[in-house]
Amino acid sequence: MPLTGTGTPVEPGDYVNATKRFWHPMGPSTSDPKSETLIIISGDGNHVTDTEGNLLLDGVGGLWNVNVGHNRVEVKAAIHAQLDQLAYYQMFDGVAHPRVYDLADRITGMFAKEDMHRVLFGTNGSDAIETALKLARQYWIAAEQPARTRFLSLRNGYHGLHIGGTSIGGNAVYHYNHGPLLPGAHLLDAPWLYRNPWDSRDPVELTNHLIRQLEEQIEFLGPQTIAAFVAEPVQGAGGVIVPPDDYWRRVREVLDRHDILLVADEVVTGFGRTGNILGSRGWGVAPDILCFAKGITAGYIPLAATVFNGRVSKTIENGPGFSNVIMHGYTYSGHPTACAAALAVLDIVEAEDLPGNAARVGEVLLESMRDLERHDVVGETRGKGLMAAVDLVADKRTHEPIDPATGLAQRIAAQARREGVVVRPAGTKIIISPPLTLTGDEARTIVRALDAALTAVA
Ligand code: PLP
Repeated sequence: MPLTGTGTPVEPGDYVNATKRFWHPMGPSTSDPKSETLIIISGDGNHVTDTEGNLLLDGVGGLWNVNVGHNRVEVKAAIHAQLDQLAYYQMFDGVAHPRVYDLADRITGMFAKEDMHRVLFGTNGSDAIETALKLARQYWIAAEQPARTRFLSLRNGYHGLHIGGTSIGGNAVYHYNHGPLLPGAHLLDAPWLYRNPWDSRDPVELTNHLIRQLEEQIEFLGPQTIAAFVAEPVQGAGGVIVPPDDYWRRVREVLDRHDILLVADEVVTGFGRTGNILGSRGWGVAPDILCFAKGITAGYIPLAATVFNGRVSKTIENGPGFSNVIMHGYTYSGHPTACAAALAVLDIVEAEDLPGNAARVGEVLLESMRDLERHDVVGETRGKGLMAAVDLVADKRTHEPIDPATGLAQRIAAQARREGVVVRPAGTKIIISPPLTLTGDEARTIVRALDAALTAVA
């Protein structure tokens, strides 16, 4: 087994009995010795190969990020060329390099319609969110309303796991071990037709409830204390929650009335996954701040971008005193090799119209998934573009979710793998987020594998 050395090709069969010295993120600190670890050794196109030599269709797209597929020569060539020229240089204190100019121009050009002016780079989605929260507060200091420090966000939302993102996140499992959290984080209900406190199944009625709740919360806290509303255009990790059509437009209208910033966490939805280049554009709203990671480099190299519109950028640039100084950034802000990877990825996204493909193939996927609802444990299938979820229930009538402790989602995912497809078990849901290069036939293959897995396991 090749335990030392770099670049040693790994062969099927290697690492099966390797001693595990690392902790998996997001799971038990000691694993059940009987539980299977999926060890992926290579990827090509929409497929990956595991250490047992099985070729698997990648229904997870790495982790909602390998949007252009694995092993793309164009991206590898761009990375290689950049490594030959300059692998890394810093950007502090007025230092730069060509690729960061190119990528900032490219991003602001793509989102000119949203009036995007400035980009601050990071390494991952959690950085993108932390940067948005800190710069939103800086905006209000520059705008001479320093009392605006609070954040509104949604239950069930996921915004990464730095302390700011953890605090505004809407799932308590990420809070238990890491308190005290950031003060001033306030949760509202998610725009979720399948499960909501009003048991409303009508999109207009639900939106009315949610907008009333938003208005009441703003009034209770005082608009003059609220910096921003932060949300995912379609909630991803929370179970692919697609809001009613009018939800975002009406939220924006309320925020505008109270002068509150809108931060769109586009870490999953950015660059095509929902069938639109921006999840938020698909709902017809222009946020003040956009957060990107994942699809921006399709996972080839980590990179994040937080992008600010004219209102925010110009206010900070013209802010009084120290408020116009950016005292935030990372060693790897604007990493040249990551920027080169992003430029190559965005070329592919545009040349191959991956948002268009996500919309078309997403329809095939969602249409075929509907048939899974005949299984007793499937309460609902839902999604938008190429992000989808199977909601597992104990009771179809009441929508009561399965008990995650049963491990049903894990067993379904393990069985789907035996059928040749990787899907992601997430508590009471199965998540599907394949590369945006997926074909219609491959979409049907994912559903067939899930169908067989549900039949075998549930
Ligand atoms: N925001 C959203 C919507 C995400 O789904 C994620 C990760 O899945 C993040 C932020 C955090 O990204 P990262 O894990 O790269 O820090």
